Amino acid sequence: MGAKMMQNGDVIQRTLTIEKKKGYPILFLQPVLKSMVWGGERLRTDFGYDTLESHLGECWGISAHPNGDCQILNVEYSGKTLSRMWQEEPGFFGKFHSSRFPLLTKIIDAKKDLSIQVHPDDVYAGEREYGSLGKMECWYVVDCPAKAELVVGHEAASKEELEQMVQQGKWKELLRRVPIAPGDFIQIDPGTIHAITGGCLIVETQQNSDITYRLYDYDRKVDGKPRELHIQQSLDVIQVPSPSVEDSVQHTQEQPKNYWKSLVDCQYYQVYKLELAGSLTFTHNETFFNVTVVEGQGRVDGIPVEKGEHFIIPAIYGKVRVEGNMTLLASDAKDA
Ligand code: ZN
Repeated sequence: MGAKMMQNGDVIQRTLTIEKKKGYPILFLQPVLKSMVWGGERLRTDFGYDTLESHLGECWGISAHPNGDCQILNVEYSGKTLSRMWQEEPGFFGKFHSSRFPLLTKIIDAKKDLSIQVHPDDVYAGEREYGSLGKMECWYVVDCPAKAELVVGHEAASKEELEQMVQQGKWKELLRRVPIAPGDFIQIDPGTIHAITGGCLIVETQQNSDITYRLYDYDRKVDGKPRELHIQQSLDVIQVPSPSVEDSVQHTQEQPKNYWKSLVDCQYYQVYKLELAGSLTFTHNETFFNVTVVEGQGRVDGIPVEKGEHFIIPAIYGKVRVEGNMTLLASDAKDA
């Protein structure tokens, strides 16, 4: 059941009924799945995405990026992508000045370690990457092995020390490893060295950007060759010193049920988590609201939804009723 399958007419019909009542309907999206050298099978086995590809690393669940622009499933917008919807139906999204849909929601299944990387901010990316946006991102840990650690930040005290440690390959001393557990949430500013480690299943909310500088790849080879590194760009953008771990990691396991808890509120987005047990009626009026079902199943305004589905509630939609036993992760964008 649900919008993970293109052929599901059930969802679409119910969505149409809602449109008559309230203007724009809740928008359901067809995720874009990406094979990665480090990817696994859990996007298929845990999240139920219907694909024959292997080494699935990423599901771009809410994306209007040219490298993976989601198709809209609602029948009245069929054939449209989210980027086209952004151009043609500004009323759906609320007041924004950007010519691009601002956010991107991914689910990441890291079977192996991802490379050590860093993202530029808007200024650097705009100048060096053909006008691309920079990348602020954040991670919600859905699952990870016992005693898992992520790489977040570094231990160098100055730019000189950073350069020296990178040139000498002192990765063990340089990279800061942070213990994590399922339910943890980590904000990653541009300029922060980071890496997702093997065994972690993560929902990522980020700026709509695909610019990554690879600092170190564990000297691995892919098809006999090392992957390209971007040492100079990385050194250009890495923040020194790194912000403290306490400032970036939050534990969300004990949050009350049936309540949208705000996990981060930064200049680009606000991210929220809801542990639903029963039902909740809420209003999210000013802008669109991206929602991902991370666990469980239920209904949104009567439409059945389940783990792995992604939808967008339009601006000025009014009251929304969610029912069931689900963990929802949501985000809204700032008009940056
Ligand atoms: Zn990243």
